[in-house]
Amino acid sequence: MSVLLGAHMSIAGGLHKAVDRAADLGCDVVQIFTQPPQQWPCKPVQVLTKNNNQWAAKPITESDCSLFREALKRTGVSRPLAHASYLINLASPKDELWQKSIDSMVIEWQRAELLGLDGVVMHPGSFVESTPEAGLERIAKAICEIHGRVAPKSAWLLLENTAGQGSNLGWNMEQLGWLLERTGENLMVGVCLDTCHAHAAGFDFSTAEGFKSWEKDAKKHSVLGAIRALHLNDSKKDCGSRVDRHEHIGLGTIGLEGFQRVLKHKTLKTLPMYLETEKGTNADDEEWDAINMRVLRELA
Ligand SMILES: [Zn+2]
Repeated sequence: MSVLLGAHMSIAGGLHKAVDRAADLGCDVVQIFTQPPQQWPCKPVQVLTKNNNQWAAKPITESDCSLFREALKRTGVSRPLAHASYLINLASPKDELWQKSIDSMVIEWQRAELLGLDGVVMHPGSFVESTPEAGLERIAKAICEIHGRVAPKSAWLLLENTAGQGSNLGWNMEQLGWLLERTGENLMVGVCLDTCHAHAAGFDFSTAEGFKSWEKDAKKHSVLGAIRALHLNDSKKDCGSRVDRHEHIGLGTIGLEGFQRVLKHKTLKTLPMYLETEKGTNADDEEWDAINMRVLRELA
């Protein structure tokens, strides 16, 4: 079986346009924002009751849904995934922001369910001026409440490992494993592994030993079996820098051999993989997404 590769695509012009863009580039899979990521999401359908404009994004209509599903069917692009708004912080020590983050994540998840997505990826959160322990407690409590309100049937909530920048939580396997354990086996909560973030967080994916030590940690904390998707990004910054800057595949500090280990790993190679690298074209006018996928397919 060959690997399932794709990329994050813009929804400009409609949600279904992202699927068409993915198909045009030769993607097997696609990731989208179901709303602009710098805005608070909106209700999944036209059910806005309160007259407040703080929920900035547009609702998803029935026609949006059918166009989206039709595009998947027509193109054969599969495993659609969403990435949640960047404003959401389930670890926030501020009650108002925490509650708004919970309400927003409910909406994000409902939107993913409505569109029939595989899941929605979320950064666990930042503890800001509290402590990592307090932040993790907040996240676990929030996820249980959100899961209860959404009662998901098909879409999973995927916690993404972070680079550990600032007070970002979920950069090591222990924190992710703790969150999975606290939210329990019966919830539809899994993990999305971002290669750039893992490398920047201190797991040296450029060496066999570094990758092994990540794998050991991921097994020890029961994270490996919970991974349901991958973000494939090389890193502009060094291993352990705790700085999140994505680079094209093979051109960063992870390098081609590092990606080959990921692509040949017996568990990881079976999972859908999404690029989140910079868009645009190279000097020969070839799309970077297409180049990155070609490089990865050759390595696989
Ligand atoms: Zn990512």
